[in-house]
Amino acid sequence: MFEKGTKMYSIRKFKCPHCQEGDFFVSNVYDLRHVGDVHESCEKCDASFTKEPGFYFGALYVAYGIGVVLILTLWAAISLLFDNVSTGVLIAVIVLSIVVLTPYLFSLSKIIWANIFIPYDSKALELKEKGAH
Ligand SMILES: [Zn+2]
Repeated sequence: MFEKGTKMYSIRKFKCPHCQEGDFFVSNVYDLRHVGDVHESCEKCDASFTKEPGFYFGALYVAYGIGVVLILTLWAAISLLFDNVSTGVLIAVIVLSIVVLTPYLFSLSKIIWANIFIPYDSKALELKEKGAH
């Protein structure tokens, strides 16, 4: 399920959706000056990562969905695992988790969005090499 060639591979490893070799992001997820900065195109296969201006606005819907799932999961887990947790503590833990995870979730939503629109091609690198010679 997570092998090369699946969208999960690209999403989990933050790799180019097209060839799954090149890096998708400019730097590490928690490099706060470059959070979510995407390369213009793949360094390995030349696939464009920005199909049109504002392409990644759609990733906000993905981020929203992930955020809702995260909040519900945390809320359920904390309620089940601990007795008598006050609402204040519950909210504080959830807000803190979201703040800490925001750079990761932001990047995650972008690569999921890119994977919806950029298809994988196992021959992407071969095709590029043929074109170059
Ligand atoms: Zn690529």
